[in-house]
Amino acid sequence: MINKIQDQPKEYLTYKNNYLGFLNPDGQVHSIEPLVKKYEGPFYIYNLEFIRYRAQLMQSALKGVKLFYALKANPHLDVIKTLNSEGVGADVVSIGEVRRALEAGIPAHQIVYSGVGKTKFEIETALELNIYQLNVESLPELKRIIEIAKIKNKKATVAFRLNPNISIETHPYIATGLRDNKFGIDLDLFPELLELCKLNQNCLNIAGISLHLGSQMLEFSSLSESIQKLKPYFLELNQNFNTCYKFDIGGGLGIYYQTQDLISENKKLQEYADIIQKEMNSLRQQVPNLEVQSEPGRWLVAHGGVLVTEVQYVKQTPFKEFMVVDSGMNHLIRPSLYEAYHEIFPLKSNSSSKKTYDVVGPICESSDFFAKERTLSEVKEGDFIVIADCGAYAASMASDYNLQPKAKEVCF
Ligand SMILES: *Cc1c(COP(=O)(O)O)cnc(C)c1O
Repeated sequence: MINKIQDQPKEYLTYKNNYLGFLNPDGQVHSIEPLVKKYEGPFYIYNLEFIRYRAQLMQSALKGVKLFYALKANPHLDVIKTLNSEGVGADVVSIGEVRRALEAGIPAHQIVYSGVGKTKFEIETALELNIYQLNVESLPELKRIIEIAKIKNKKATVAFRLNPNISIETHPYIATGLRDNKFGIDLDLFPELLELCKLNQNCLNIAGISLHLGSQMLEFSSLSESIQKLKPYFLELNQNFNTCYKFDIGGGLGIYYQTQDLISENKKLQEYADIIQKEMNSLRQQVPNLEVQSEPGRWLVAHGGVLVTEVQYVKQTPFKEFMVVDSGMNHLIRPSLYEAYHEIFPLKSNSSSKKTYDVVGPICESSDFFAKERTLSEVKEGDFIVIADCGAYAASMASDYNLQPKAKEVCF
């Protein structure tokens, strides 16, 4: 289905004239070096054309599925605008993200509002702004929505995030579909949910159900299993409410961080798409007007960004060699938080000997590292390194801990 795969290079970062650059699908290389000359301090670079291309690839694989970009992956205005210009809406988890999506020009009717902790103020504001769909994560939240909708004399459009109690192979901190995770409505509470819906039809527009198993998913049998498990609940809602025909399959499609391999990644995309089409075709037999939604984040943007940082010191001890750089967990917390792996490249290719480093930042925590025991080309003070795959969950999770400034974000 994706005829673009064949023409696509395997890599997205490559060296040209000794300097690292972004390799775009059209074969053009955009060198990172001129930007390093222009900006002081560590900074992120986002390659908007590549992000656009990812949206096109996903849309052609997931034909007929409406995409809502999970803003929390990277809420940079130009990233959101780029994705929206390809017809992708927004999946948000706070009023701040609602406002950002609106600021980027995404209309309220293309915004899905998820999240376990929506405050009264957030729900009121969402209803005033006519946000397309509230993905409800608990019965107390539904009760709160009903109360507010009554006061405002509005109909709230809701979908229910059901917790299928199914695990996926990923880091435990990013698995969300298990019973002991805080996310979604436990299936045992479904009868109570149905009752609440029946009693409050005048202020609810029941649109569908949603599901999100977690992030960085590269194996899809749990997804199939979850869709099948939720199917009877969806059908029961559909039989009771003729407005209920949307199935939101969540986000979570993973990428490869360890190697640049777009070809294998696209095969994964195809595998994912095939599973969804199969499950949805089976559902469509009972719900002919079925609408399918998805909320991808990481897959669209991760490869479209890097973090550039300067080597401050090379610190040798009898046990280890530390490469101390001017960026750390304050700009990219994934290694500290989930022991996540990010590829690291020197900005300037060199044929010097290899060394094994712990790549660490300036923050006063031992967990402040980008890599441990990583064999890289030898570096010296003042060299720059480029950390790959920082388009997702990097700047969006940044903090100003130690009162270190946030890093600039540059787009091209
Ligand atoms: C984080 C999140 C997503 C996006 O997850 P990715 O792994 O970035 O695709 C989608 N839906 C919900 C509800 C989320 O919390």
